[in-house]
Amino acid sequence: MGIFKPITNESHRNRDDGERARLGLGLAETLLGVGLAALAATALIAALTGVASLAATAHAQETAQPGGASAEGLAADGGAPSAQASETQAAAKRLVLRRAGVKPRIVRYAGTKPAIFRFEFKGKRKRDVQVQVVHRAEDGKKTVTKRWNRDDLAPNTVHQVKWRPRKANGKPVPNGRYFFRVREQGGKFADADKAKGNHRLKSYSHIFPVRGPHSYGDGIGAGRGHRGQDVFAKCGTKLVAARAGVVKYRAFQGSGAGHYVVIRGRKSGMDYAYMHLRKRAKVKPGQKVRTGQMIGRVGATGNATGCHLHFELWSKPGWYSGGSHMRAVTKKLRLWDRWG
Ligand SMILES: [Zn+2]
Repeated sequence: MGIFKPITNESHRNRDDGERARLGLGLAETLLGVGLAALAATALIAALTGVASLAATAHAQETAQPGGASAEGLAADGGAPSAQASETQAAAKRLVLRRAGVKPRIVRYAGTKPAIFRFEFKGKRKRDVQVQVVHRAEDGKKTVTKRWNRDDLAPNTVHQVKWRPRKANGKPVPNGRYFFRVREQGGKFADADKAKGNHRLKSYSHIFPVRGPHSYGDGIGAGRGHRGQDVFAKCGTKLVAARAGVVKYRAFQGSGAGHYVVIRGRKSGMDYAYMHLRKRAKVKPGQKVRTGQMIGRVGATGNATGCHLHFELWSKPGWYSGGSHMRAVTKKLRLWDRWG
């Protein structure tokens, strides 16, 4: 305490309630500094007479978005003289987070790992807290995807929620950017400006199956009735399931596919075929597989020139059972590739 920097809007946002209330004069100077002279005069009077309500009001009008989640020091906590009890009471209304971080930062539908969001708030009393995960669309539109209500949570303790990115009907949530935020139930969103960790993440319906350096070879057709897309990579490169599902076939075809495996996609209506694996696939027929789960390694078994994955997508009802191979396979692979 005691350090007062000229305040920009940004650092003003970062200042915690209690500190700002105690620095009533500082607030007045700030407001003068940014040219809000009329307001400042009132603030000055308020500050001089020890009334903190204006500071609290000014704060209340700010947006409650969790901010940049920088890990720079922690805001001063408590320690206000008893004469300023009303100020601390006002400040205590809004949750202040010490920690707000999610891991991993990319999750997949029915993936191997759920997102774990950990948070901790300051203060002296228990609170009824709501955690939300919010989708941020390309156009900036925010939609709450899921809420968790947790009653009587202790301050200064790490709490966590686990999120598997799916809708109530079991399908994947929209692809793209998400973030977690916290508030007191029925109250304002917590101040996360100084919280440790990063509360943002991305969720995707698929993962690119070749987990290493790669290049694209022949696509659909390719002058020889090619039914998929070739992806070249070093033999031994890890192969994972692009989408969760159930293993439908695992076999060896010496004259063509070599070691191959076909997985019926969960809630996607498609079959996913992986060919020329180095060895027999690690997953067996009937087995449930998660998005991103290892199924084998890139090889050159069967009729293959060079180490590569031959990948096919088949529409409902599936691979050589009434469906047809999808021309969109290359486009899809390239999209999943961009998702990382
Ligand atoms: Zn091929």
